[in-house]
Amino acid sequence: MTDIKRPTLELPESRKKVLLHSCCAPCSGEVMEAMTASGIDYAIYFYNPNIHPDREYDIRKNENIRFAQEHGIEFIDADYDRDNWFERVKGLENEPERGERCTQCFDMRFERTALYAYENGYDTITSSLGISRWKDMNQINGCGERAAARYPGMLYWTYNWRKGGGSARMIEISKRENFYQQEYCGCIYSLRDTNRHRRAQGREPVQIGVKFYGREETL
Ligand code: SF4
Repeated sequence: MTDIKRPTLELPESRKKVLLHSCCAPCSGEVMEAMTASGIDYAIYFYNPNIHPDREYDIRKNENIRFAQEHGIEFIDADYDRDNWFERVKGLENEPERGERCTQCFDMRFERTALYAYENGYDTITSSLGISRWKDMNQINGCGERAAARYPGMLYWTYNWRKGGGSARMIEISKRENFYQQEYCGCIYSLRDTNRHRRAQGREPVQIGVKFYGREETL
């Protein structure tokens, strides 16, 4: 744990236990450390059938497991469920990022998170997804609230993890931990679009498993 100074967080409505949907180690690092520093009782739920191919998925998940173990935080590894993800976004393959495909993608991940939370004694869910500046916070909060509303008493905590220096700390922690630095959102469609963009700029395509925060050299 770092000696970073943060405001003390309090759960809304005197809630007791949070299930944190984590998308990856870089995004959840600051969220985890902020909750730990405030004495919030939480566990990590890793359910991301949107991450392709398998190698990228394994790297992202293992980075998150390593960090959870370092901090003694429970890590719940949910099923991969990739076929259902493709079924869910069928017909939306050419949607731009932050469009309807992403809404379905967030909905699916949060619905499973809310179900697990409801069945396992958590009264609150939240997500690390919103800390990324590439994401639409309103879109994520809408999906989170919709998922929570399916279960009585469940709350989606809409805390803005970017504020109060959260975005800067996310980078700082990622460098300190040498987290894997993913170069696209996660699905094969985002990989396709990132590579298209790179090609148009005369850049090399994404290379999986190569970039790490805080390291000059490639591995
Ligand atoms: S771009 Fe990202 S959020 Fe959108 S569908 Fe793909 S993985 Fe999900």
